Amino acid sequence: MTETVDAPTATRIPHWIGGRRVEGGSGRRGPVYNPATGRQTGAVDFASLEEVDAAVRAAQDAYPAWRATSLAKRAELYFRIRELLHARRDEVAEILVREHGKVFSDALGEVTRGLEVVEHCCGIPTLLKGEHSEQASTGIDVYSIRQPLGVVAGITPFNFPAMVPMWMWAPAIACGNCFVLKPSEKDPSASLWVAELLREAGLPDGVFNVVMGDRLAVDALLEHPDVAAVSFVGSTPIARYVYEKATGSGKRCQALGGAKNHMIVLPDADVDSAADAAVSAGYGSAGERCMAVSVVVAVGDVAQPLVDAIRDRIPKVKVGDGMDPSSEMGPLVTREHRDRVASYVENAPAEGATVVVDGREGLPAEGFFLNPSLLDDVTPQMKAYEDEIFGPVLGVTRVGTYEEAVRLVNESPYGNGVAIFTRDGGVARQFQFEVQAGMVGINVPIPVPVAYYSFGGWKSSLFGDLHVYGPEAIDFYTRGKVVTQRWPDPATSRVDLGFPQTR
Ligand code: NAD
Repeated sequence: MTETVDAPTATRIPHWIGGRRVEGGSGRRGPVYNPATGRQTGAVDFASLEEVDAAVRAAQDAYPAWRATSLAKRAELYFRIRELLHARRDEVAEILVREHGKVFSDALGEVTRGLEVVEHCCGIPTLLKGEHSEQASTGIDVYSIRQPLGVVAGITPFNFPAMVPMWMWAPAIACGNCFVLKPSEKDPSASLWVAELLREAGLPDGVFNVVMGDRLAVDALLEHPDVAAVSFVGSTPIARYVYEKATGSGKRCQALGGAKNHMIVLPDADVDSAADAAVSAGYGSAGERCMAVSVVVAVGDVAQPLVDAIRDRIPKVKVGDGMDPSSEMGPLVTREHRDRVASYVENAPAEGATVVVDGREGLPAEGFFLNPSLLDDVTPQMKAYEDEIFGPVLGVTRVGTYEEAVRLVNESPYGNGVAIFTRDGGVARQFQFEVQAGMVGINVPIPVPVAYYSFGGWKSSLFGDLHVYGPEAIDFYTRGKVVTQRWPDPATSRVDLGFPQTR
């Protein structure tokens, strides 16, 4: 993974440990690019075991005081974080554009959706409320409390460098934990920007730390005896690895994996609305979203008009540098990823699919661009159907009936998001009842839940039991405790060796 850092002007991107920037000493670094130009802009430090340990120790040192901080003070701090993030969201959005490649409006959308999770956490006093039963037995009260776990870690993917970390650190820290983030090495700068903002808002040093790096840093966190829990978002093979390794060493773990999201279009659907949705959800963020639509399942005679309507829209999608306000779709994150995505278009005819629009044509000379591509007649045996392509390549699979369409979705190893487009409420209700996926859209192509619900898929899209953010995050980042209490009355106290009974 370690690559030679060859651009002399590249900005050094260090760790954030104990409330300050810490330059890495391992001698290992990775390149960070501006995907729109293809040029290296940064050199990110890759942590050594000692540096990961230093971050965990900083978090541990900060933990006793942070967990004792009152809920009122935590809520007040979260309101300040919210205000700062809101006021300065353009700054971080620009960082996202320059390292990830997504267009500025999309980057702002990412920050805004992450901000919603911070806003939800402003209600932490309410979210942590327990239950109380007075007089459960004579003179005895019983109540439940939720307490933080200690030091928790988050390992995040390249495609949402601000929002996905917010899904994790916002609830984890609000619950009283201290946090170590290992962001993607491809676009790490947003995490440093957030670290500085949290300090400015008044978060005590050591509560939020960032270690930059690769597999070595991930393994060090998974093996560290003082890390109590790990949240992971990334591809399915790594999610499975992280889940097995973390739980094998006794940690609590939620590991969200990859996806292959289907959008079923029934013959009664409005073709124009369905085509608009397919183009938006298939090519938005250049298809680099875990909730992107990558397979359109066209049922019956809607198929040809739908393929025609999608094809007609594609030339109007403006592809370009994300800082150009007219751009609607930016480049892919790296050259290697762009080439891998393009190979699915190249191999499509040999697999038996039809290339309706070839996005490899008319590319700019520089940058990691690929234009939107449309494949038709894609069948479940093809790699273009099976693999998570994670790029602007939309496949259309034609089926005869609603039942065939649902079977396709339910036979997929993934179960992240799914959508159905129809005017028939009864069919939509049946679909919601029987489809095997964690997030379902009815005439909504990217059904990312609002912050007061939780986000997560089924099957190989999630290893673990609890989804991220919302109410399930509160459960994930806390442990329950039940207290049974009596204030003894010396007049009635006696020795009783029987098992305690409630009557
Ligand atoms: P990735 O799995 O390559 O990397 C994710 C994280 O794991 C990064 O921090 C990376 O440094 C680390 N990592 C990579 N290889 C590793 C290894 N061998 N051992 C230990 N750690 C390793 O994912 P990515 O390419 O950054 O992100 C895209 C993937 O994330 C897609 O599959 C996408 O579907 C998925 N994703 C899923 C969700 C979801 O909610 N389910 C959300 C966003 C992204």
